[in-house]
Amino acid sequence: MDTSVLIVEDEAAIVTLLRYNLEREGFRVYSTGDGEEAVGMVKDYKPDIIVLDWMLPSMSGVEICKQLRWNPETKAIPIIMLSARGEEGDRIRGLDAGADDYIVKPFSPAELVARIRAVFRRFRPALSEKVLAFAGIKMDVSAHKVTREGTEIHLSPTEFSLLRYLLEHPGRVFSREQLLDAVWGHDIYVELRTVDVHVRRLRKGLDYDGKQLDLIRTVRSAGYALEENTAGEAFVEETEAK
Ligand code: CA
Repeated sequence: MDTSVLIVEDEAAIVTLLRYNLEREGFRVYSTGDGEEAVGMVKDYKPDIIVLDWMLPSMSGVEICKQLRWNPETKAIPIIMLSARGEEGDRIRGLDAGADDYIVKPFSPAELVARIRAVFRRFRPALSEKVLAFAGIKMDVSAHKVTREGTEIHLSPTEFSLLRYLLEHPGRVFSREQLLDAVWGHDIYVELRTVDVHVRRLRKGLDYDGKQLDLIRTVRSAGYALEENTAGEAFVEETEAK
């Protein structure tokens, strides 16, 4: 089965370059330069991954990202955001909007291909049928489904992989470096701050009705751990303060 990529980018030269390189790597490529059309194409074609430019004529990449993440049907499709804006604040905004990765322009097509492959590795389906459970959270790995107290929770691919890793090792404290290696892979460069952004999003996702106990403990200057919350209070996010 072909792996399909939807490129949402209004600069024709970039689309041509990416299309050529992705097709050469065996991907089926769809493209559009229009944000609203992109949302429709995602629903029609159900691409395996979306490469999404930030600056677009009708709707910004951040808006599209939010819309796709809000819709349960499109929530699980990985998104790599492209932008000429390389400031840390912009990266964080892009990731906060729901992107799984963020590439700053100019970049090489080879880098994009490497990052697409890294995103796929991150949420590859398990070979066996596996259900992980901890403190009211249940994850059906092969069905890519998570519930908490019986309510389905929709997580993006990166949050899913992060939660999966924590569920596989409850109670263990992982440094941000360890989580990066486990979830993103060690062959691509990702800032440590990215882990905090995704942990924050995972916390938000797990607290589906605003009443759930925080189960991800932030361990000062060490990292994060999935733990039973017996105190019933929010685990303080100390390592995130900078
Ligand atoms: Ca653009």
